[in-house]
Amino acid sequence: MSKISTNLQIIQRRIAAACAIASRAPSSVQLLAVSKSFAAERLIEAAAAGQTSFGESYLQEALVKIPQVEPRVNATLEWHFIGPVQANKTAAIAAHFDWVHGVDREKIARRLSSARTAKQAPLQICVQVNISGEASKSGCAPEDALALCASLAQLPHLVLRGLMAIPAASENAKDSRAAFRRLRELADGIRASGKVAAAQFDTLSMGMSDDFETAIEEGATIVRIGSALFGERQS
Ligand SMILES: *Cc1c(COP(=O)(O)O)cnc(C)c1O
Repeated sequence: MSKISTNLQIIQRRIAAACAIASRAPSSVQLLAVSKSFAAERLIEAAAAGQTSFGESYLQEALVKIPQVEPRVNATLEWHFIGPVQANKTAAIAAHFDWVHGVDREKIARRLSSARTAKQAPLQICVQVNISGEASKSGCAPEDALALCASLAQLPHLVLRGLMAIPAASENAKDSRAAFRRLRELADGIRASGKVAAAQFDTLSMGMSDDFETAIEEGATIVRIGSALFGERQS
């Protein structure tokens, strides 16, 4: 059995254990395989082991890899763009991805919506929130999230699915739990506001290799896992 398929099984077991602690169904958590910096061969290996959703952060890299991977996989893959979105990249992102997790400005959302063609399914998006209040981080301020979500909910070719966050790396395990909890409470408030389509606003994209179990205990529905699945990235 390949290393990646072994890692995948281990991660799925850890997800199930965290769900058991939180009294949640394991099917309520989606594992997003964060494949940035890994070669197409590794993604194909993960797909052969049953993984169907992949997260990429760098557009140019993804545009090379997606056409290398798709013809060699017997399943429909779901591509998630998880990096910061620059305005001049929105057309290509809208054309090649199913989900975008890092939307933090109305301008970006408008461009994504208008770039999505009527033939395509609507683009699934999450609003990224700067939940730890870091000066250098992307993401909207927590106090601006409701207004931003309310305006994005009006855009025709997008479906607003929820919130995404990356807590500060400096936060210890206890603090990242607090950050995950703040994101969940923020999402609960937005869902209850009546300003978004509540039934579709069901996603909390939070938790990575080092903290995904904590994120699941606090309500994560998508965990974004790279190194625990594929190994350490070369920088
Ligand atoms: C790289 C990355 C991840 C995965 O990080 P790991 O620690 O390797 O699991 C998750 N989310 C985002 C936004 C990333 O850029």
